Amino acid sequence: MTRLTKEDIIEKAKALGFADIGFTTAEPFISQKEILESRRKEYAWLLKFGADPFQGTDPKNVLPDARSIIVVIDSFFGEAFPSKLEAHFGRTYLNDDRKLRRGYIKRLLALRDFLREAGLEAKIPPYMPHRLAAARAGLGTFGKNCLFYARNGVDGASWNSPVPIVVNREFAPDTPSVEFGCPEWCRNACIAACPTRALQGQGKIDPRRCISFLTYYGQDLPPREIREAMGLWVYGCDRCQNVCPRNAPRLAARKAVNEKVAEMEEDFELPRLLHMDEKYYETRIQPHMFYMPSSEIWRWKMNTARAMGNSLDPLYAPDLIRAFRENDDERVRGMAAWALGRIGGPEAKMALESFLGESAGGTEEEILHALGRSGAAKTPVRKSESSPA
Ligand code: SF4
Ligand code: SF4
Repeated sequence: MTRLTKEDIIEKAKALGFADIGFTTAEPFISQKEILESRRKEYAWLLKFGADPFQGTDPKNVLPDARSIIVVIDSFFGEAFPSKLEAHFGRTYLNDDRKLRRGYIKRLLALRDFLREAGLEAKIPPYMPHRLAAARAGLGTFGKNCLFYARNGVDGASWNSPVPIVVNREFAPDTPSVEFGCPEWCRNACIAACPTRALQGQGKIDPRRCISFLTYYGQDLPPREIREAMGLWVYGCDRCQNVCPRNAPRLAARKAVNEKVAEMEEDFELPRLLHMDEKYYETRIQPHMFYMPSSEIWRWKMNTARAMGNSLDPLYAPDLIRAFRENDDERVRGMAAWALGRIGGPEAKMALESFLGESAGGTEEEILHALGRSGAAKTPVRKSESSPA
């Protein structure tokens, strides 16, 4: 067997359609470990969900004989997505075929197998700091929105996925580019535009305030004061990327429509999401957006109700009234009431009045707030009255 060279691997990665590839050492990610240590509170949720970000800070935890990390970049915004979908879903999730084992995951496994067939041990770690690994491999720079801007692929925009592969052979490392690449004149547009103030400057983010996090991991109704700011997002959020001048060329570029994503448009219409049952979720939605098990379908409905409310479209009022009546989960009912209050109008008001007699606690308080009578609740407000997810 001939010994695999760096050039062979680069050639294979390019042939598989990756936008770029770089190499770095298997040194531990000490700075990342220090950041995680100092911000344990902000990242405690990750441990709670069974993920261990500390584990990935040392490649030797992934592969005891780790010698190098190969990082590939996949770009996912080469084609256009329907604007209706872009209004509610992060682009990264619209084209996520990981669960279906299509698209880039298939190509990634092909690259890993290529390395293994050449006699290398090769592992794709689940929790390695992938953006930092990519910067250490010289593949691009950071933005102050904490995202990674690849030097190659989709005009250097942030719509890319860096993926590290740890191997047990040493390859010459590329020159690192661990730095911010933001032009000074930008004046932190992403930080100013973040509606929930999750971005804190100096490349720091409080994930617990980020809309993306809240849409798939939030455990209760989001605080009322940020519901309006959460806008129309149902799953993910692209706001800090959409305002970024480094992304402007890609946003403006002429792109063919991604037909596969376009075909999903009907399935992801808001009324369908609001009224879906578990079977619909498992067959139409979860194959593409899978961070929540079907037992947590309430969160999809709650997010959808909030997006409908923030659309201010009275055509959604009948759907919200129906959702309030048909759902047992108080988080869905509470958000449907909030959304009706946001839309307003006689139909919404009449429905809210009729709900009052059949509600108590937090839901009653949501209804009273929606009717502009906040503070008048007759029964004590509980944090959550819903069955556990
Ligand atoms: S994804 Fe949205 S909420 Fe999260 S940091 Fe960016 S703009 Fe803020
Ligand atoms: S908006 Fe400005 S500061 Fe934020 S990532 Fe883009 S260039 Fe950097």
